[in-house]
Amino acid sequence: MNVLIVGAGPAGLYLAYLLKRQSPQTALRIVEQNPPDSTFGFGVVFSDRALEFLRDDDPATCELVTPAMQQWNDLVVHHRGQAIAIDGIGFAAIGRLRLLQLLQQQLAGVGIVPEYRRTLTDPRELQGHDLVVAADGVNSFVRRGRESEFGTRIEHLANRFVWYGTTRPFAALSQTFVQAEAGTFNAHHYRYAPDMSTFIVECDPATWERAGFAAMDEAATKAYCERVFAATLDGHPLVTNRSIWRNFPKVWNEHWSAGNTVLIGDALRTAHFSIGSGTRLAFEDAIALARSLREHPRAVADALAAFETARKPVVRKLVAAANASADWYERFPGHMRLEPWELAWQYIQRSGRVDLERLRRVSPRFVAGYEAYAAQRGAAPR
Ligand SMILES: Cc1cc2nc3c(=O)[nH]c(=O)nc-3n(C[C@H](O)[C@H](O)[C@H](O)COP(=O)(O)OP(=O)(O)OC[C@H]3O[C@@H](n4cnc5c(N)ncnc54)[C@H](O)[C@@H]3O)c2cc1C
Repeated sequence: MNVLIVGAGPAGLYLAYLLKRQSPQTALRIVEQNPPDSTFGFGVVFSDRALEFLRDDDPATCELVTPAMQQWNDLVVHHRGQAIAIDGIGFAAIGRLRLLQLLQQQLAGVGIVPEYRRTLTDPRELQGHDLVVAADGVNSFVRRGRESEFGTRIEHLANRFVWYGTTRPFAALSQTFVQAEAGTFNAHHYRYAPDMSTFIVECDPATWERAGFAAMDEAATKAYCERVFAATLDGHPLVTNRSIWRNFPKVWNEHWSAGNTVLIGDALRTAHFSIGSGTRLAFEDAIALARSLREHPRAVADALAAFETARKPVVRKLVAAANASADWYERFPGHMRLEPWELAWQYIQRSGRVDLERLRRVSPRFVAGYEAYAAQRGAAPR
């Protein structure tokens, strides 16, 4: 089989590795517009303790990546000067570039080096392959112009966000809400290396307008955000990497393949960064697609149909949770009128997947703290 993978992000790199590992005779090319040592953003977080979901299928990659991850058990919500810890919520994080380097290393081990600095811009370059995989991210070039075949829907959230790093290593995954002069801000921040954290700043559209960000360049925006989050950053600077304000795009494709072309990773669908699942979904897409191709070695169309049938129900559920979480953030200025305990209580239940009994099991200290607060206020836990 002759395969072209467009994009060497987590989805493309991992799929290339799995395909070549399971079928060394596959003729496989993977092309990437950027150089190998360049990427956007900073660290990414996984919503479980590590890459345990890989352990059965691919213990070697799991063991390679896991030691490079920062791990912790609590999530902390900061509001009105109070820090509320939600225990038992395991997360693990890694620098995006570090993750890509480790995946590149795995891929080199099966004899493949991506073609870097090669941007595909002409659909004719996609011709002549048995299978074309669009692993080229949220603004997928491969998907472009074929939206009606894929049933593509793209909706942008109203809030703005900007992705920074900082040299302050936070102890846990934290959500900080700040009432500033121009309006309401929040930050999602967590350590992804011993000396670095991700720091994503988000604000609602009215705050964004009042702050005058439209007229600010990257340096002025960074300085402004450093002032808003001065107490959180504690003297540390924000670090930029193409850090511009964006509106998060919710991407969904009703049909996952068209002819011999299949979408995976962010090209297929996005999951809001507040649930820390986009990269994991990209890995799982690669695993599912490789499995379908293994089970249907002679019929690409059957393999692509099997991939979609097997994976769509799981993905739908996760995307629904991600969208519920995104909606909660879209309304965060209203939530900030709540007392810190109430806000944390709402926050942890925002994706609609956590019921009280489960929360009691997973986060006993947090539930006890909330119940004590509620009893004092004469309110029953909801
Ligand atoms: C602010 C923010 C925070 C996030 N935080 C997290 C997090 O904490 N945890 C998490 O799991 N996920 C997070 N994500 C999501 C995560 O980054 C994506 O889900 C993940 O990167 C998807 O992987 P991918 O390989 O599908 O796409 P990408 O990582 O986008 O890779 C696509 C690749 O294709 C290349 N490419 C694009 N067009 C072309 C072309 N025409 N020719 C050649 N190459 C091309 C790009 O250069 C890129 O390298 C976050 C996203 C954002 C925006």
